[in-house]
Amino acid sequence: MIIIDGSEGEGGGQVLRSSASLSLVTGQPFQITNIRGKRAKTGMMRQHVTAIEAVCAISDSSCDGLAVGASEITFRPGKAKAGNYKFAVGTAGSTNLVLQTILPPLLFTDGPSHITLEGGTHNMLAPPFDFIARSFLPIINKMGPKVSARLVRHGFYPRGGGKIEIEIEPAPLKRVECIDRGRLCSVNGTALFTGLPHDVAEREVKAAQKILDWKEHAIGVRQLPEDQGPGNILLLEAEYEQVTEVVSGFGKLGLKAERLAKTAANRMKGFMDSKAFAGPYLADQLLLPFALAGGGSFTTVKPSQHARTGADIIEQFTGRKFAFDQQDNGVFLVNLSP
Ligand code: ATP
Repeated sequence: MIIIDGSEGEGGGQVLRSSASLSLVTGQPFQITNIRGKRAKTGMMRQHVTAIEAVCAISDSSCDGLAVGASEITFRPGKAKAGNYKFAVGTAGSTNLVLQTILPPLLFTDGPSHITLEGGTHNMLAPPFDFIARSFLPIINKMGPKVSARLVRHGFYPRGGGKIEIEIEPAPLKRVECIDRGRLCSVNGTALFTGLPHDVAEREVKAAQKILDWKEHAIGVRQLPEDQGPGNILLLEAEYEQVTEVVSGFGKLGLKAERLAKTAANRMKGFMDSKAFAGPYLADQLLLPFALAGGGSFTTVKPSQHARTGADIIEQFTGRKFAFDQQDNGVFLVNLSP
């Protein structure tokens, strides 16, 4: 039984989700204590419970102690089965984080799966749908499987009500080398909003343009139907030959439109000024599939605490270590040790 201390490193929900995915793929049971031990409100929230319930539902795994607020579970993995699954992540919890938890085991099944997820699609502190579809899944597809995602309806915190659908065709995960991102092909952005004054989105576009100086109309405004809101997110996208980076700024009460846009635009500028293949979020999300492929490497910006913690969890389940080595051009080369 692998024992995980959920307060180590980043100490957030990703430690729990990655452990569950790895447990199912490697067949090793685990016990985790101090779940989300570094968060202000420790223990599992609804979305973490749903992620583990989803893992149990796609396999015949068993889990003791699973409850909202609980800080400890014991998980015994079964075998993941391909199929049609539907999960509702209550209270606008992130659908994309549930997807990330069940995707790795479903890539190791012997048939296609169709997943429907309901809840939040554009949640703060989680990958927005656009990141999953444009940035993360294309790399998974380079590794062999065919995974496509469709956004049926947007869901923002706190109302939720969003829906995504995912088609998964598994294939053995190949090792890939993601070193050079290639030439910049296009840039674009969208200030998505609903249930808020129009000028909020326009101010975001203006503030982002001031920093990025992309060509006129590269960043647009899109208003969603009122019943999908209220909500607001600024999405900035840079498409390179080999990878697409999606940077997001999430609107929230009390956060000025200009401030949100400035932070997001500066993050995009930082990425574009670097030579990295993966931005900070893509980097922490690629570790698990790369580990399951048994190798491969990618370049990234300075690794986050999320990435370092993810690498530690992977080492506990697989015995394989990731090295993060800074190169002369400033980027970090991430490599799975033999
Ligand atoms: P908590 O931090 O409350 O435990 P959590 O369960 O959402 O929350 P984290 O451990 O913080 O868990 O993990 C969040 C995940 O979401 C990470 O994998 C991170 O890469 C991803 N993520 C967060 N923000 C973004 C973003 N703007 N774009 C893409 N991915 C993101």
